[in-house]
Amino acid sequence: PPGLGTWTARRARNSPERVALVHGPDRTTYADLDDRVRRLAAGLRGLGVGPGDRVAYLGPNHPSFVETLFATTGLGAVFVPLNTRLAAAEIAFALRDTSPRVVVTLDGSNASLLASGDSDDAFPSLEVGGSYEQLIADSAPADLVDADPDALAVLMFTSGTTGRPKAACLTHANLTWNALNVVVDVDLRSDEVCLLSAPLFHAAALGMTCLPVLLKGGTLVLEAAFDVDRTLDLVEREGVTIMFGVPTMFATIARSPRFADADLSSVRYLLCGGAPVPPALLDVYASRGPAFLQGYGMTEAAPGVLLLDAAHARSKVGTAGRPHFFSDVALADGGEILVRGPNVVAGYWERPEETAAAFSDAGWFRSGDVATRDDDGFHRIVDRVKDLYISGGENVSPAEVEGELTGHPEVVDAAVVGVPDDRWGEVGHAWVVLADGATSTPADLVGWLDGRLARFKTPRTVEVVDALPRNPTGKLDKPALRRSLGQ
Ligand code: AMP
Ligand code: MG
Repeated sequence: PPGLGTWTARRARNSPERVALVHGPDRTTYADLDDRVRRLAAGLRGLGVGPGDRVAYLGPNHPSFVETLFATTGLGAVFVPLNTRLAAAEIAFALRDTSPRVVVTLDGSNASLLASGDSDDAFPSLEVGGSYEQLIADSAPADLVDADPDALAVLMFTSGTTGRPKAACLTHANLTWNALNVVVDVDLRSDEVCLLSAPLFHAAALGMTCLPVLLKGGTLVLEAAFDVDRTLDLVEREGVTIMFGVPTMFATIARSPRFADADLSSVRYLLCGGAPVPPALLDVYASRGPAFLQGYGMTEAAPGVLLLDAAHARSKVGTAGRPHFFSDVALADGGEILVRGPNVVAGYWERPEETAAAFSDAGWFRSGDVATRDDDGFHRIVDRVKDLYISGGENVSPAEVEGELTGHPEVVDAAVVGVPDDRWGEVGHAWVVLADGATSTPADLVGWLDGRLARFKTPRTVEVVDALPRNPTGKLDKPALRRSLGQ
């Protein structure tokens, strides 16, 4: 398929008057979006951005995210969305790792993040509302072309089993095939109005709603954060047809005092990722119209892999459904999910070893998740072989947290696991071994992580112990540690 470079031009040709983006009181038609994207692209080109160069984006959901994505990829350059929840040192790491030519930032706090850490201000930034708007105003529209489908379009960071985050190399083809998978399997219509408050810097929101809805010519209502009252207001005001989120978000809406009287009649689908939808939540929404869809995927698959469709939401509750149309899933010995398809990336950015470990020559990606499959072909995610937990919808790599803890001068060893939490799903628990004569308290260690690690990665509880259990090869014995917590 053609790449992302001409999507806005094709939409401006075929549905110029339709609204592409809604943000607060602002509405952007496809004609306006294409015009702004072309001007921004010309401006970025003037700043030296060419094919293969990276342009980073640091900010919550906003029309400028979508504009920068299409302007950058329309130049054959590479879009790098950054997680706003990261600490300054982590953002500095991501910038060093991808060396963008320009960083687009959304507000002052983000700009100051760029200057802190140790990124030494090497990356020129454009500020939305300031120099970004000026650049669009001052530039004449560029003509954008389709890149080679296999050219890199987006670098998106994902936490892994090893310490440092790594970026998946998403090509134009990967993103387009994923969008086609979603259009086919979610039954998207061209009059879709999708409310999106989940962050676009994660593959889930970008791949499961943003790109497919724009491909179809629907409308995206962009919200910087989830808020129950604003959600209910927007559903009624904009006639929202699809909402994307995690199950806890839809549970929060159902608990609102306004829920009983809210008009949800326009909503066709609640699209959920990250965890199974509890049966009780299905019951709450059952009489109100919207159907639940449940997805399973990962950044490396752009991200859709499995989908539980509305027709089976109840009969196959607890499963993540069947593979997307153009993708294939196999279960390895032990049940590990292997994924193959035109949406699956070829590897990680400048990480040959991690790429070799996760991707086979035959095109299968090892997900690190374990599943069973029933006779009807529905998959149940039962475990993870990779060491990872999910807190508030954000993946946490224990190895990364352990690495930061042992970086403290008084910490000689550390182990981290995720423990169940009512509010966040899971939170971290750390065990640390201190050097002889050390005086650090658990609170001191949490303080040490401040600014080094995102809040969602910082362990909720830290326990000082004399030694950590290790197996004969020297690896931390995580099962034994979990058992010691009664898990
Ligand atoms: P990421 O790399 O950040 O996109 O996260 C992908 C990982 O999230 C997967 O490998 C799974 O471990 C987890 N995940 C995604 N969807 C689901 C789901 N529906 N149920 C359980 N775990 C999921
Ligand atoms: Mg991952």
